[in-house]
Amino acid sequence: MTTSPTMGCPICRASAREIWLDENGVFLVQCEQCSTFTITPERRTAFAEAWRDHRRELLMFLELISCYLRLADDDGQRDVSADTWMHLAAEGENMLAEGGLDD
Ligand SMILES: [Zn+2]
Repeated sequence: MTTSPTMGCPICRASAREIWLDENGVFLVQCEQCSTFTITPERRTAFAEAWRDHRRELLMFLELISCYLRLADDDGQRDVSADTWMHLAAEGENMLAEGGLDD
């Protein structure tokens, strides 16, 4: 579990680097799309399964989370866990509604 094969960003599948933070029990992900965030092993596994099984509803949420991570400033919440991921998706949806992405 502590080793991370290069499987891309758990949120958006772009190329990413993952570092296991033992003291926090989370992965620190540096993604070329989502920038830097942390994710719990539980969410990481759940999202990997969503990608593997093409679970469209969940993948839609992941897209919103990726939007949030891209648009939020560094002071924003950047810890993806079972408690926060739905909230982050909702935030991403709000941000898109307010103007969306330029690119
Ligand atoms: Zn990403």
